[in-house]
Amino acid sequence: MDSEPPAARRRLFVQNFGCQMNDYDVERMREVLAARGYDAAASADEADLIVINTCSVREKAEAKVASAAGRFRELKQQRPGVMVAIGGCVAQQEGERLLKRIPVADFTFGPDQIPSLPELLDRRANGGRFAATDVTEVEQYRFLSAEPRPGQVPVTALVTIQKGCDNHCAFCVVPATRGREVSRPWREVVDEVTRFVAAGAREITLIGQNVNSYHGVGAADGDDFAELLARVDAVPGLQRLRYTTSHPHDFTNKVADAFRDLRTLCAWLHLPVQSGSSRTLKRMVRDYTRDQYLRQIEYVKSVCPDISLSTDIIVGYPGETDSDFAETLSLLETVEYDSIYSFEYSERPDTPALKLALRDNVPEEVKAERLQAVQTLQKGITARRLSRWVGRDVEVLVEGDSARYPGQLCGRTTGNEMVNFAGPPSLAGQMVTVRIVAARGHTLVGEHAMSAHRLSVIG
Ligand code: SAM
Ligand code: SF4
Repeated sequence: MDSEPPAARRRLFVQNFGCQMNDYDVERMREVLAARGYDAAASADEADLIVINTCSVREKAEAKVASAAGRFRELKQQRPGVMVAIGGCVAQQEGERLLKRIPVADFTFGPDQIPSLPELLDRRANGGRFAATDVTEVEQYRFLSAEPRPGQVPVTALVTIQKGCDNHCAFCVVPATRGREVSRPWREVVDEVTRFVAAGAREITLIGQNVNSYHGVGAADGDDFAELLARVDAVPGLQRLRYTTSHPHDFTNKVADAFRDLRTLCAWLHLPVQSGSSRTLKRMVRDYTRDQYLRQIEYVKSVCPDISLSTDIIVGYPGETDSDFAETLSLLETVEYDSIYSFEYSERPDTPALKLALRDNVPEEVKAERLQAVQTLQKGITARRLSRWVGRDVEVLVEGDSARYPGQLCGRTTGNEMVNFAGPPSLAGQMVTVRIVAARGHTLVGEHAMSAHRLSVIG
């Protein structure tokens, strides 16, 4: 890294796609590059360095890379000094091929290369285009420590506890792009949470591809996920704790008990099921059956009756029959999730499904019909679930101004439901009690006692 102070500040613009892991990676890029003299640019037009951070989980996500790069081609013609780098999972997987496909790219880099970004910029400044896709060995992998930036600390912050994944879900590209699972030492996790809370964060979400398989580092640090949750819960000043994502295979009753036992743990669980059919789950190599999954849900509801649940669903998996699909619909009705993310299956390179010769054989129109059926059913369930809040007073952690409803504030309940309500901007970062007066789509409409009083006095 440069020891010389930079001659002039330069500007960085990041176009990010994908999951929370990518959001987290972008923050690390900003930090690494800030040390090298880069500040955030408000738009690509004024940037000296543009990073496109990619996602390859689904085909549609991958297609966005080319169109994003296309937008920057003209810009680079006007200002040839601008550098364009492509990072993330597509860059890891496609490396050199991506350079050929996207001439505007100066270099591509995988997620493990983020700490080396300054050296990669030097390398490009001194030579030709290249792909940097080396993966760090598990033993050598070090997590970058996140530093809260004064004045920019979010009310809700992400803290990573793990990278990569050791599972073999047949549809999934993540193990191929992010490599073997590495757990972060618990002290680093607790220190980072402590720093963020001291700097003003109120809610922390612990992130990883399969947080339940967290195992610390070696025998001396051999915590399991439930123990890590208890350690984070004890951080003074922390008001709310969440985690994502869980794999049902590793989701134990001990982890579920934390919903009852921990002061800060929110009553919200994202537990991806993918399919309601045991036959499909087996062919997805998910290592649990429909019944086992339903027993886990039953247990979680027994320790935390008011919990809000969400899940991921894939429709049109290779060989999925009408009756398999009907089981997915019936599972949605049985569990009654508060919200779901649903996707049409898309074949991905280097996934176990290809090695198992599971061909993408459900016609596109059938996939589209099934997706529609899932979303229509869930819309009704979500509306029913949201309506249980109407008339109740709920605790809301205020995140700030609502992007959707100008002049209103937005915040979330413990169950992760978004609430919009009128109130003074000074409430941002505070936990307030809000009376829920209506449900609107996927969100709730609230009334803050103090604001309602003020309004009636003014009125
Ligand atoms: N680690 C998480 C887990 O175990 O559930 C999931 C990570 S993945 C980034 C997020 C979601 O994308 C998955 O839960 C799955 O529903 C969806 N997904 C992954 N691969 C897919 C594929 N090939 N086609 C469609 N959806 C896919
Ligand atoms: Fe992919 Fe399965 Fe790992 Fe989730 S648990 S990242 S779906 S392989």
